[in-house]
Amino acid sequence: MNYICRVCKKTYPIDTDQYKCECGGLFHIEYEKRIIDFEALLFSKEHSVSRYQEVLPFIDKEVTMKEGGTPIISLTPYLMGKGDYFMPTLSFKDRGAVVLVSMMKKLGIKKCAIDSSGNAATSVAAYCTRVGIECDVFVPSHTSDKKITQIEAHGATVHRIEGSREDTGKAVKDFIALNKVYYASHIYNPLFFEGTKTYVYELFEQYNYKLPEIIVVPVGNGTLLIGVSIALKELKEWGYITHYPQVVAVQSSNCAPIYHSWRKKSSHLEIISTSNTVAEGIASAEPPRGDELLEVIYSLNATVVSVSEDDIIEGQDFLAKRGLFVELTSSANYAGYKKFIEEYKEWENKSAVIPLCGAGLKSVH
Ligand SMILES: [Zn+2]
Repeated sequence: MNYICRVCKKTYPIDTDQYKCECGGLFHIEYEKRIIDFEALLFSKEHSVSRYQEVLPFIDKEVTMKEGGTPIISLTPYLMGKGDYFMPTLSFKDRGAVVLVSMMKKLGIKKCAIDSSGNAATSVAAYCTRVGIECDVFVPSHTSDKKITQIEAHGATVHRIEGSREDTGKAVKDFIALNKVYYASHIYNPLFFEGTKTYVYELFEQYNYKLPEIIVVPVGNGTLLIGVSIALKELKEWGYITHYPQVVAVQSSNCAPIYHSWRKKSSHLEIISTSNTVAEGIASAEPPRGDELLEVIYSLNATVVSVSEDDIIEGQDFLAKRGLFVELTSSANYAGYKKFIEEYKEWENKSAVIPLCGAGLKSVH
């Protein structure tokens, strides 16, 4: 198992202390994968992410908290929500954290640092504390207090950084360079995406060995989008699907560099001016994997929509009235779905799924 630079193709061993290539390119991961045997899985009693451990890098028995295996819940006659906040730390990031922290334990790592808008850090902190890995967490100073309370409860040291999400990213990089600790990044480390890809495997089983016609994915740094694209490409390569579903990537209009670049058909992320959004989980003005996210979007023939603050807040109300109280980053997905079927009416009566990524109580101030 190796990391491979997506720019110059240089390989690095999995225990490297580099989080990116010396050329500046970011890593992918390459390892020998088996094909999922969905028929054999019919007899499996394991419903967590570990259900797919044959096709994942590694899951440690002490690290897993039985994350994954989340339900799909009816929202409208055509739309389902996948309850990914039904997980130990109340967000979908547990799918990625279990894989990343399992490998960190295997590599003997004792200290790490992570930057996040909240959910990824909470998740990594929770999994690290189970196996005695010390964790320093860097969050933007405007991160919800409840998320910080949750992170601190897991024994992590929290550093609140003034300024933008990008300033937080810079602060953690300075810290790891100075203190020589492992960078447990959900953005740079491709092990994380190997976990989030299980979202699609589960959908494939839940939709009776098909996929919904529309898959809506929120996009900030692309943790879920990259995982979704890996799984869709695998399922196609393995002959389980003949074509990709319509992927709809959602950004907040206040912070929509991917949407902007996609509209211009650009292959490079164009930096534009942004402002704060209530959807804090997708507030990434300069996602480090920006060019890669665009490449993924084009390769899946995905569509990108951007949604207003009012639409996001209305979305939360709609979902709450359906019995589900989710955080605003999750309700952005409903707003994105609604906008997509309004703009592209031919998709109105097609089966669709939105991820309910994080619990609502996390972002109540
Ligand atoms: Zn390189």
